[in-house]
Amino acid sequence: MNGAFVFLGPPASGKGTQAKLLSERLKVPHISLGDILREAVRAGTDEGNRAKSFMDAGKLVPDELTISLAKERFARSDCKNGFIVDGFPRTLKQAEAFESILGECGIELSSVIYITIPVDVAVSRLSGRRSCKKCGAVYHSEFNPPRKLDVCDRCGEKLYQRRDDTEEVIKTRFSVYEKETLPLVRRYGKSGKLKEIDGSASVDEVRNAIEAAGRGK
Ligand code: AMP
Repeated sequence: MNGAFVFLGPPASGKGTQAKLLSERLKVPHISLGDILREAVRAGTDEGNRAKSFMDAGKLVPDELTISLAKERFARSDCKNGFIVDGFPRTLKQAEAFESILGECGIELSSVIYITIPVDVAVSRLSGRRSCKKCGAVYHSEFNPPRKLDVCDRCGEKLYQRRDDTEEVIKTRFSVYEKETLPLVRRYGKSGKLKEIDGSASVDEVRNAIEAAGRGK
């Protein structure tokens, strides 16, 4: 494989979960811009300090910062045979930059997987979401609870709720998504590379639909 797969969709559409599954199947790295930014915030780097207030408010981090972090990550040797990216590009400017980065790396854009979900389903998913900082596992307090309350099944780390998963911030994230990211759906729709998937089904059903779309069904 020598291509890039992009996951697009509103908050809580399951794009991170599905991107991870596809990366395991295709044996290429899964790159999440949100994870890269959260790690930078935790590490207290200059980039992290700049990004923090935007992230806490549910707004987009400035393009120039996300583009430079993404570019640095795509240039690493593990990406040379392709990669799966979620959370980037998220604006038209990022999409333009992404196309030039792919050209420079000699990687083709294989597909853009666009996962849709009704807003009420997304809000209920987000407010119950609990994540593990250490291994990246994601749970839901009601639909996919860990065996022991707020403790990761995989690595035993204490789970946390993302600061941007509160009701107020969730609303902002949706409106930012509609204004900034939805135009990309039209852009990629025209290119013929967009595959639209219903994200309200179970994780396995969505995964099967993505695999079927990849086979052209
Ligand atoms: P996510 O984990 O994808 O939901 O991203 C969490 C937050 O990180 C977003 O609400 C933004 O504040 C920031 N972020 C992630 N990716 C990007 C991006 N491509 N451009 C700007 N901000 C981003």
